[in-house]
Amino acid sequence: MCGIVTKALHEIPAPPPSHTLLWEMHNVQETLHEYMPWIKDEKLLCWVKKSLDLYSRTIEPLESKLRRGWIHNDFNDYNVLAVPKISGIPDVGLIDFGDMTHSYLAAEPAVACAYAMLDKPDPLEAAVMLIRGFHQHFPLEEKELEILFPMIMMRLCLSLTLGAFQQQNDPENEYLGISQKPARKLLEQLQEVNPRYAHYLFRDACNLEACTASFEFRNWYQNAEGSFHGLLGEALNPEKTAVLDLSAGSFLSAKTDGVSLEKQQNILDEYLRENNVEIGVGKYTEARSFYAAKEFLNNSIDGQEKRTIHLGIDVFAPSGASIFAPIDGVVHQLQDNQSPLDYGPTVILKHQPENGPEFFTLYGHLGRECLQQLQIGQVIKGGMPLAKIGNSNENGGWLPHVHFQLILDLFDFDGNYPGVALPSVKNVWSSICPGPGLMLGLGSESTAEEIDSGKLLKRRKNVFGPSLSLSYQDPLIIVRGQAQSLIDSRGQFYLDCVNNVAHVGHSHPDIAKAQSNQAYVLNTNTRYLNPLNIEYAERLCALFPEPLDTCFLVCSGSEANELAMRIAGTVSGEKDMIVLEEAYHGNTKANIDISPYKHDGPGGKGAPEWVHEIPVPYLYRGLHRDPETAGKLYADEVEKICEKLSTQGRKPSAFICESMLGCGGQVPLPEGFLEQSYQHVRRHGGLCIADEVQVGFARSGKHFWSFELQDVVPDIVTLGKPIGNGHPLGAVITTRKIAEAFANGMEYFNTFGGNHVSCSVGMAVLDIMEKEGLQQNALETGNWLKEKLEALKESFPLIGDVRGEGFFLGVELVLDPETREPAPLQADYVVERMKSRKILLSTEGPGHNVLKFKPPMVFNQRDAEHLLAELEQVLGESPLQQNRRV
Ligand code: PMP
Repeated sequence: MCGIVTKALHEIPAPPPSHTLLWEMHNVQETLHEYMPWIKDEKLLCWVKKSLDLYSRTIEPLESKLRRGWIHNDFNDYNVLAVPKISGIPDVGLIDFGDMTHSYLAAEPAVACAYAMLDKPDPLEAAVMLIRGFHQHFPLEEKELEILFPMIMMRLCLSLTLGAFQQQNDPENEYLGISQKPARKLLEQLQEVNPRYAHYLFRDACNLEACTASFEFRNWYQNAEGSFHGLLGEALNPEKTAVLDLSAGSFLSAKTDGVSLEKQQNILDEYLRENNVEIGVGKYTEARSFYAAKEFLNNSIDGQEKRTIHLGIDVFAPSGASIFAPIDGVVHQLQDNQSPLDYGPTVILKHQPENGPEFFTLYGHLGRECLQQLQIGQVIKGGMPLAKIGNSNENGGWLPHVHFQLILDLFDFDGNYPGVALPSVKNVWSSICPGPGLMLGLGSESTAEEIDSGKLLKRRKNVFGPSLSLSYQDPLIIVRGQAQSLIDSRGQFYLDCVNNVAHVGHSHPDIAKAQSNQAYVLNTNTRYLNPLNIEYAERLCALFPEPLDTCFLVCSGSEANELAMRIAGTVSGEKDMIVLEEAYHGNTKANIDISPYKHDGPGGKGAPEWVHEIPVPYLYRGLHRDPETAGKLYADEVEKICEKLSTQGRKPSAFICESMLGCGGQVPLPEGFLEQSYQHVRRHGGLCIADEVQVGFARSGKHFWSFELQDVVPDIVTLGKPIGNGHPLGAVITTRKIAEAFANGMEYFNTFGGNHVSCSVGMAVLDIMEKEGLQQNALETGNWLKEKLEALKESFPLIGDVRGEGFFLGVELVLDPETREPAPLQADYVVERMKSRKILLSTEGPGHNVLKFKPPMVFNQRDAEHLLAELEQVLGESPLQQNRRV
């Protein structure tokens, strides 16, 4: 909007006004000098003087070249009126043209930035966003970008200085002091920002190469190719060197994460051995997930962003190996950066090549002795030994390696310098710190390639059928899972609140081990006698109440339900199925037939003649809402169908029902519903199938199986999803009697069901659940969370209902608590915004308005607190205060 307005005003031909206004940028120096004496706060005065000095130095050579024109000159939050929308761009308007003047055009975005930056966790991020938008509508010139940051400071100084003056004249006016607070805080924060860094950020926001020195450097660097001395003495021998993939989604990164340094070294050594090389090289601009210390976190507008982009090249060689200077230089900084996961002993050399610009090289994770042996100012000739590679006790706690980085602008850093950058400013930092590969004699393979999401999406669309859906407006590129997190290609962690498949946590090492170890040994079908699948089936059956003691192993939840239907059909001799509206039981033809969620939804053709639906037993929204009577009344619906079938001379084959409803909208069943429904069905000769694909394996916290919440014992139970933690495994559990009746002569064979690798994984899931006390965790953390979510209802009438058990919760959003009209757009908004804040949720239910919560069972108390805090933040956002019917 600021850019659009500037463009429109710029076209006004009117001449500049003859009088002078207080807030004009072209008079700022005079104004400040005049009013500065009113500032009584010493610190503030000092910052204002410093800022004025910066501005004066910067503006002097530029003044006559800066474009001037009419500007609004007061783009602040109070002058911009916005009607936020639940989706799309808000309607906006601008008021108060009282300060409109003819001045530097650059002052317009500078003023807007000064206000946009107030009270922001990362003020520069806000400025960058504004400048990027502004530039799209009104392109800024390079010289304007140079003065922008000092101008932002000037606006803050003006505001604070004139504020001090006003306060002096109106000492009783408390408001004046309060309104100045954020500006004072921001001015203080900006004292720490190197103006050149801000300049680079702003250049990048306008699609210019960020670092102005990089053009000259690049010319020199390319011409100097081949003239550098080897970092390890000799040039790296390509035959003996492997470029490692240490990116967030790499096997090496996943395998070395969280294990001891000794194990990490073994893994690396084994990798190098297998590849028949001696030296490993870690890539430049690679997005890595292993920078775990809090120093790598940055508070950004949308929550925390992790610094993950590697700005140097790592050379992995044994500790004690000598490092040589690749080029002539002078020792510029020496420092022991001792914090855990920092550089340890670090050397920075300054270089002034003959026909090139000054630049620096950084060597991190060195042995401590170089700090004594080298001296600041010491001349180092190219090829001279500089230091040794440090060991893990001295190098910040890493495997022995040297981090080598080029630096074109050292800013004010003293002995330490960022070696990893935030992905959002990758271009800026890679401009300031160009690729060191060329200096090390490495080719383009030493620079990481970023995955292009647009291209990937296109390939996906080309190769997969279009009915395959993708989450989020701007899909995530997920490259790795870890416990309750999913990690994207930029190394950012997302808290996974919806994946009940990764039951014991994503990529659990015990699961990976169980799978891999068994794959070495045997993986075949169930036609041979072998203890493994028998033991697994015994363990699984032992988790069920009597008389559920017999097991069929399959490969998915869909397959389990298919088999359950077949068993019921064979045993009862009937075909008719009773199902719940909105139910989903799987993706095969027969499962779609019994899944109203699909066959009554888009593209569906309705229920086949043999499928009979009862209304969803949904206390909040359903036909019957009194918890005292609802269970019986909904069970009566089951009976009605049985009776109707009976009048037609038919009987139900089976009644299938999830023990808590998933696609139906995270709905727990009303008390007594299953018990009475089962009675009706059994009386009419049918079987009762409990679909525990979503809700089995202790998700409710209270019980291992969710049908136990209803105090029933089904005839058949189907299992999937969590049973294999992502490995394709499923099971059907039934009684011996039913299994025998099913064995009517037709063999049941399943090529993959019950294979040894799957059983091994299934067993590992059970082991981990026991070992890590996951049922108890679901109970305690889930209950705590549910209570807190319920409390949120008080502050947010958008929350109509909070329900569920343990780690299976639903939060239903409504436009009006009275009418309970669903709020699907608001639910989508919450899901998208939570994703921006790195929390994964999704919606469920017929009205697409239920936020579903069913995380990996390792979700912990800290995660719950984080989820709540973020949810509260998002629910308070202005688009959710609009369009509501309350
Ligand atoms: N039953 C229920 C209740 C489900 O939610 C699903 C999958 N969402 C299935 C069965 C089918 O399982 P799968 O996708 O593993 O075949």
